[in-house]
Amino acid sequence: MPISFDLTGKTAIVTGANTGLGQAISVALAQAGADVALVGRSSMAETETAVSAAGGRSLSIQADLSSLEPVDRIISETVAWTGRADILVNNAGIIRRADAIDFSEADWDAVMDVNLKTVFFLSQAFARRLITEGKGGKIVNIASLLSFQGGIRIPSYTASKSGLAGLTRLLACEWAAKGINVNAIAPGYFTTNNTEALRDDPDRNAAILSRIPAGHWGQPEELGGAAVFLASPASDYVHGVVLPVDGGWLAR
Ligand code: NAD
Repeated sequence: MPISFDLTGKTAIVTGANTGLGQAISVALAQAGADVALVGRSSMAETETAVSAAGGRSLSIQADLSSLEPVDRIISETVAWTGRADILVNNAGIIRRADAIDFSEADWDAVMDVNLKTVFFLSQAFARRLITEGKGGKIVNIASLLSFQGGIRIPSYTASKSGLAGLTRLLACEWAAKGINVNAIAPGYFTTNNTEALRDDPDRNAAILSRIPAGHWGQPEELGGAAVFLASPASDYVHGVVLPVDGGWLAR
């Protein structure tokens, strides 16, 4: 059988799709043929335009992922749109910076809720539907280099992304035999809102750049290929991996 990266006829759900990596992933999935449900709490106008320019179709779903309230609604609104949900990209995430010695409970809970708790329960709702229908599907979690490394001044972020790597492996083990692939992408340093503080600090910016073998910050479009691969039939026998897309950072 020819290797296929084609997503024609599939419906993808991408959280945090209004900007940054989520926007680039939505466009890449649309270019590969998928219909894309754009989930988030902000206006999706920019991503809707970009998906449409890529020849794709999108549906915007308003949802604040800091609670579990929207979880079932995200699946049902998607299915009401195209009759199906085949791919879930858990991309929405937040970061809070402070020295560990001063870190607050509020900054701990906020990050864990969006980056880990909602990811688990949205994945559960998505998988329940697939299993009830007797269909396979794809879950792609957006992890981080902090799934492998410690970092500094981001304790809840590192805990959430390290936890997400473990959760990816656990869900892969439980659901692989049901035809559901659960994998993750670990982006390196990409130019988005999430990393603005680092790029604005000349010392951190120079230190980061000097360690990236590719020699430049990642551009969000550079993540699209990995997302399409993990969402497509080409990765049907890939389960439980955390794939770095980092310009070689972890190889140093
Ligand atoms: P970003 O801040 O531009 O995007 C984050 C997205 O999450 C936004 O769409 C935002 O609206 C959404 N979001 C946050 N809280 C939400 C909530 N409560 N409800 C709904 N949506 C919410 O940053 P980004 O860099 O595009 O981040 C995307 C993902 O990639 C995150 O999980 C982040 O941790 C991860 N990541 C980014 C980098 C990087 O270098 N930029 C590196 C590693 C991992």
